[in-house]
Amino acid sequence: MVAYKSSLEFAKEKDLKDPLRSYRDRFYIPVINGIETIYFTGNSLGLQPTSTKGYIEEELEAWKNWGVEGHFEAKRPWFSYHEFLTEKIAKVVGAKPIEVVVTHSLTTNLHLLMVSFYQPTATRYKILCEKKAFPSDQYALESQVKFHGLDPKEAIIEVGPRAGEHLIHEEDILAAIAEAGDSLAMIMIGGVNYYSGQLFDMETITKAGHAVGAKVGFDLAHAAGNVKLELNKWGVDFAAWCSYKYLNSSPGGVSGLFVHERHAHDKSLIRFAGWWGHDKETRFLMEPGFNPMPGAESWQLSNAPVLGMAAHLASLDIFDEVGMDALIAKRIDLTNYLEFLIHDLSARKGDLCSFEIITPKDPKQRGAQLSILLHGMGKGLFDAITKMGVIADWREPNVIRIAPVPLYNSYEDVYRFSECLEKAISHD
Ligand SMILES: *Cc1c(COP(=O)(O)O)cnc(C)c1O
Repeated sequence: MVAYKSSLEFAKEKDLKDPLRSYRDRFYIPVINGIETIYFTGNSLGLQPTSTKGYIEEELEAWKNWGVEGHFEAKRPWFSYHEFLTEKIAKVVGAKPIEVVVTHSLTTNLHLLMVSFYQPTATRYKILCEKKAFPSDQYALESQVKFHGLDPKEAIIEVGPRAGEHLIHEEDILAAIAEAGDSLAMIMIGGVNYYSGQLFDMETITKAGHAVGAKVGFDLAHAAGNVKLELNKWGVDFAAWCSYKYLNSSPGGVSGLFVHERHAHDKSLIRFAGWWGHDKETRFLMEPGFNPMPGAESWQLSNAPVLGMAAHLASLDIFDEVGMDALIAKRIDLTNYLEFLIHDLSARKGDLCSFEIITPKDPKQRGAQLSILLHGMGKGLFDAITKMGVIADWREPNVIRIAPVPLYNSYEDVYRFSECLEKAISHD
């Protein structure tokens, strides 16, 4: 157990010893109203790498100079632009290159994957998900069920926290899977819950799902670039994520999807097809009859939006350089420090405040984010720290979500945040 201290000197010393400290300079930290922000919303929109502009400009130049010829003549030919991202994103999610592709947006990919992996029958038609899933996921699941002429109330099983609790017991998920048994067609859960920050044991859930014959997929919006993922090893059937949260690849940036290699050559899988998923060798013969490419690429519909992909590549090159293991090591320590400071503040100022961290205490069950319940304090506190330059996220009725991101946040950021919090409660 590391002994943390609540002091600026301690935080600065931690920064000096941090092997990743130089990466902060490779991002633009927003300055708002003349104050350099303490940016803790990398779980919502990651910051811009200073290199992004150059990657996009390169493609604008190629377009200017080559026109349509850029599809084959650009330095990174647009025809196969997505391929430049494949190996890098595969490392981020623990996949083989054949299992991943960067394409579309997240909710679109969830739908496309569910078209393939949610194939209900008269007896096996249920979907298991977490209660209070991200709204887009709820709508996606409901509409998939209706698309098959079924009733969401009967088909969707939601597993939530027990009464009076904030986190979901894993044994409750496993019990619900076993209880659904042969009626369970698919499990689709957010790998890290966006609200509580709870990280689920995806390997165990996948095994349990497969044991009853269900397909298992995950929404990794809050997991990709944040926590250790081993999608191939865990045997997950499918997954999708966005690139604009921890992956810093521009607002609304392009998404990625994973399909396990065991499905890579299964041409009989039902899918919504488009020309970019068709066999690359014969794509331009423009002949009728869809012949899917092997692997995840066959879920592509359209040619790649190259400018957005360029922003994603700029960011993935940084991830490739740092490596997920180094990133995760710092992330664990940074979030632990934040947790320490919040507890320390609660202990010192118990008469003025009561902060309850609802995110799991065990670093193996969480990523960067801590969700803090403000007992007896409302939005006033949040507004006060915002004025001091803290960019955090407010969720009704009284939760602040804070995500120190190891690539660009410092220990000093975390310490200064606790100072702002202390000032705000003293004046609340
Ligand atoms: C951020 C997020 C989304 C957003 O979906 P888009 O299609 O990218 O708008 C979906 N699901 C989860 C769990 C998220 O956290």
